[in-house]
Amino acid sequence: MVKQRKYVVKKHFQGVPKRDDFEIVETELPPIKNGEILIKTEWISVDPYQRAYNSRYPVPYDQFGYQVSSVLESKDPRYPEGSRVVCHQGWCDHSVVNTSEGKSGDADSSAVYKLPDLKGLSNSLGIGAIGMPGATAYFGFLELCQPKAGETVVVTGAAGAVGSIVGQIAKMKGCTVIGFAGSDDKVEWLEKELGLDKAFNYKTIDVLKALKEAAPKGVDCYFDNVGGEISSQIISQMNLFGRVAVCGSISAYNEDLQNTPKASIIQPSVVSKQLKIEGFIVGRWLSRWPEAFADLIKWAKSGQLKTREHVTEGFDKIYDAFVGMLAGENSGKAVVKV
Ligand code: NDP
Repeated sequence: MVKQRKYVVKKHFQGVPKRDDFEIVETELPPIKNGEILIKTEWISVDPYQRAYNSRYPVPYDQFGYQVSSVLESKDPRYPEGSRVVCHQGWCDHSVVNTSEGKSGDADSSAVYKLPDLKGLSNSLGIGAIGMPGATAYFGFLELCQPKAGETVVVTGAAGAVGSIVGQIAKMKGCTVIGFAGSDDKVEWLEKELGLDKAFNYKTIDVLKALKEAAPKGVDCYFDNVGGEISSQIISQMNLFGRVAVCGSISAYNEDLQNTPKASIIQPSVVSKQLKIEGFIVGRWLSRWPEAFADLIKWAKSGQLKTREHVTEGFDKIYDAFVGMLAGENSGKAVVKV
């Protein structure tokens, strides 16, 4: 018998999630049946949607999330013992996975797939730059923003898992890239290491003034990770036929749903500049994720794409990693080594 430790959410979050909103529960896992695998978690992902989707589920529920795991026992020849998988089993240290269950790519999906051949890169990238967040940056930006060389791109949440990849892809496509992030250290990383043309600490500057100076000819593409007033300000600076990919609105995830912050009206800019604004969920392109992974691996191996991670060690520290990520402690992808 293998024991499983897992995080159960026992209370709906109010504001910043609290430690005692979670409980670590120990259970015994059943023997595996045909079409199942027993896996041991190696890397666990902490992500903003784990905060955003909390109110969707009745409590108690098992905390969902992506992980990279090794196969301990297999009754599915596609996933031999000792191989690695990426799956959505949540914050647990062992689990039994039915490999034939749906692969919707939604946050609550039971997706399981083989960890791509990372050609010597860290397996942890399977939940980061070469996992769901990497696919989000790749398809959200390239498909919805349709960037062209010479255009000006703005990305918020620029130093995070998704944003840091968007900014680098935009540079590879020959764009001028402006990023907004929440600390001076992040700004320095974005400009000096990732090669963004300009980055700003949105907490300490006048966003509109900074943007007018950095993008005197206006903004063609905006990859929106944060929502709220900063997004309204950026949208007000967009050019004719500009494109906005709405990826998330983390500025409001810890806010009371009944009382979310108000932001300036964007419709005058949307109409007069004939903007295209599109929201998306990365699962839309699930069948094409391998396409993104192939490019992302190639770029990471060649050094064109830098893949910083913010690693927290220990199963008991997942809560800390989660609230730390929400508070902006991470540059690049926040992961937990179990
Ligand atoms: P990040 O790695 O960017 O981590 C979250 C970051 O959010 C923090 O580091 C912090 O950076 C920033 N943040 C926290 N509070 C605020 C705030 N009030 N205003 C502005 N920024 C804030 O996370 P991800 O890259 O995983 O996710 C980025 C966005 O993409 C999220 O909105 C997420 O929900 C979304 N997403 C959407 C997907 C989709 O399919 N649509 C899939 C995956 C992610 P800082 O120091 O800069 O404040």
